[in-house]
Amino acid sequence: MRLNSLKSLFQPSQQSADSPASEDPSHYRRYFLTSILLVIALVTFILFIFINWALGKISLVYFDMFASSLITVALYFLWVKKNVEVASCISSLIVFLFLLAFSYINQSESFSLAWTFCFPLFVIPLLGLKRGCLVIALFYTLLTPMVYWGIGKWDYGQWDQVSFLRFILITSIIIFIAYFYESTSQKAFKAIAINRKIEKRYMRELETHSYTDPLTQLYNRRYFEDQFEVEYNKIDRYKNSFCLIMVDIDHFKLINDEKGHQVGDLLLQEFSALLTTNTRSSDILCRWGGEEFMLLLPNSDRQKALAIAEKLRENTRLEVFSCNVKMTISLGLIEVSNTELRKRSIMNRVDQALYQAKSTGRNKVVVASL
Ligand code: GH3
Ligand code: MG
Ligand code: MG
Repeated sequence: MRLNSLKSLFQPSQQSADSPASEDPSHYRRYFLTSILLVIALVTFILFIFINWALGKISLVYFDMFASSLITVALYFLWVKKNVEVASCISSLIVFLFLLAFSYINQSESFSLAWTFCFPLFVIPLLGLKRGCLVIALFYTLLTPMVYWGIGKWDYGQWDQVSFLRFILITSIIIFIAYFYESTSQKAFKAIAINRKIEKRYMRELETHSYTDPLTQLYNRRYFEDQFEVEYNKIDRYKNSFCLIMVDIDHFKLINDEKGHQVGDLLLQEFSALLTTNTRSSDILCRWGGEEFMLLLPNSDRQKALAIAEKLRENTRLEVFSCNVKMTISLGLIEVSNTELRKRSIMNRVDQALYQAKSTGRNKVVVASL
């Protein structure tokens, strides 16, 4: 198995990058902890199968085989199904059963009972605070009477009341530490998750602001320039063409002077809405500046673009805007089908076409000569 595919086993699903689980950093910790625990447990139980077989302890061999199969099932849920929930429950069950059986069989010989101290440290991070505490309560409800019953009998009679009290005290301290550690980590994880969400929202807002014109909510010139670059670079590779239409409102200064700047702003907004409703969502519509707009039509030829430009011109002429204002527009159009013309020349040509529309009477579309 390659190192990368081995690494990917220890990572939660990549497909769920946007899922709530991926927002939660404790999810990664659970996934990793469960993986490590299960791998160690599987190796240990397989080893024990051989050891107990060699020692002739056949009943323990069956127990080890049962535990190994359970671990394999848990690993299947974890690595194949990417289900941390089920895998961590099975892992906790394995540790639960193993430690109870181990404590009973060894009767704290050489203080083997010390292994049970690991239980709260594993179970709380794996199952979370509430479920973890419930399982711990159940575990010690079964273990404590057994340990008490062992007084005077276990560890060749050396397991006495003082040992029992020490065991209870250390266990309580470990449970308290595990609980305290988990609850503070949970708070920290929550704070991290909230900060991540806020950060993402700010990033999205920032991105939107950097590409949006605040008055009209259309894309701004920066966005246009980026998209123009993208479409221009596609020409040679995909052999398709795109068109640019530059739009300028006729005599807008007069309207502004007559109606006031605020009405002028409102008219620019209404005109932007008209442009939006008369174009496809795949077209890139931007406010170029002032009362000038730019329309980029990807995968379009001159014929299609001319029809759209005429439709825009006619619909603007027919529209009655706020305060009974009537407006007309002039448009320059260019088809870009090869990269012989440099980007700057394309912009100059469409600007010249618009200038020609203005100088030859306005309210018209002029197609740039190639
Ligand atoms: P032409 O037909 O030659 O285009 O004449 P025009 O008056 O439209 O052209 P000009 O470029 O001389 O004037 C553009 C005017 O647009 C000037 C300015 O007052 C107005 N304008 C530019 N930006 C805004 C804006 O954001 N809000 C308002 N209300 N007016 C704006
Ligand atoms: Mg104008
Ligand atoms: Mg202008």
